[in-house]
Amino acid sequence: MGIIGAGTMGGGIAINFATVGIPVKILDTTREALDRELGVIHGNYQRSADKGRFTQDELEARMGRIEGVLDMAAFADCDLIIEAIFEDIDLKKKIFTDLDKTAKPGAILATNTSALDIDEIAAVTSRPQDVIGLHFFSPANVIKLLEIVRAEHTADDVVATSMDLARTIGKVAVLVGVCWGFVGNRMLRARRQQADRLMFSGVLPWDIDKVINDFGFRMGPFQMADFAGLDIGWAPGAKTDYPVRDALCEMGRRGQKTGAGWYDYEGRQGVPSDVTAGIIREITGAESRSMLPEKIVIACLYPMINEVVKILEENKAQRPSDIDVIWLNGYGWPADTGGPIYWADRIGAAEVLDKIEALAMADPGLEPADRLRRLVETGGSFLDLDFGGLKTARARGRAA
Ligand code: NAD
Repeated sequence: MGIIGAGTMGGGIAINFATVGIPVKILDTTREALDRELGVIHGNYQRSADKGRFTQDELEARMGRIEGVLDMAAFADCDLIIEAIFEDIDLKKKIFTDLDKTAKPGAILATNTSALDIDEIAAVTSRPQDVIGLHFFSPANVIKLLEIVRAEHTADDVVATSMDLARTIGKVAVLVGVCWGFVGNRMLRARRQQADRLMFSGVLPWDIDKVINDFGFRMGPFQMADFAGLDIGWAPGAKTDYPVRDALCEMGRRGQKTGAGWYDYEGRQGVPSDVTAGIIREITGAESRSMLPEKIVIACLYPMINEVVKILEENKAQRPSDIDVIWLNGYGWPADTGGPIYWADRIGAAEVLDKIEALAMADPGLEPADRLRRLVETGGSFLDLDFGGLKTARARGRAA
């Protein structure tokens, strides 16, 4: 198989395949980039070997399966190629145009995009039936979840092979459809927007994170942003929907990697920051206030349930229980609550709708899902929500 982009994700993806015996060619623009990532992969394997997980000979065998290349021509005999370059649609379209000329007929052309429109990427090729999303999560060699993103024209055999391949490399695969952020990141965005809204009303980031930690997540929204890097989706001078984040980035507070973000850092330990509190006050004008933990849970997590009902309404997932599989295996949702759908079902649709309607009064962007209203009317269960599964326009046409 081939990988385009020897960065954080490309390196992690390579490990998955080399570990199970599949030879990997990994492409980047410079020898330095390749050498750096091959060094990271070696270090990763070495740490496991040092713990006695496998022998030094096995380490060498795995490394021997990974070849760094600088020319896409090396992919001519690959059965599967996964693109993992920067999150830039124009760059990805250019790569897929080139890939279309290079890859052999029948090869699977996959993108690891986090949120971009895969139909738009597939459209630049002469073989959209062979284009699919294989959305790995960071670190890609550790996190079990793989969202397999079926685009409008993706062929059945490409989906089937991808599901099978996921099993080969030890992943838990869930089939999803094309929409911004697919299932997991789209729900995560709903939580982030609400956490941001609470912050604008004066609730401080560490108070929000603490409640989410107590709920059972290892990281709350602000801790997660510091961990991933505040500058994802930001560029110097940018004015995004997240002005406090933009201001922190402009100050060089870009998360753990810069030693400061939402939090100040003592080693890897984040501590509440007076600087951040000052910036929040300056931008939001809100005096800091406390909020009951149960209200923070409602404000941050119920909108995720509302969003997922919309995702199901739009046929972007196959079945409600898949949502729990995604959040348990990819985002650290506390397993003892069963996952977001199971948890919501215990709470009941009427209670969720009631709170969403109350939240929507202060947030015009938060529209209760139609199907949530109907669920309340019919007294049904979230677990039985049936929209007929994931459908492409082609499948809908066939059914009609
Ligand atoms: P990264 O910046 O770590 O790595 C990107 C690599 O692509 C770099 O090494 C760069 O040199 C290389 N590259 C850029 N243009 C290239 C080209 N034309 N040809 C060959 N190589 C090229 O980025 P990343 O974090 O690994 O993200 C890669 C993709 O994976 C993005 O689409 C991102 O949205 C997605 N993703 C990232 C994460 C994450 O947490 N980092 C999680 C899931 C998905």
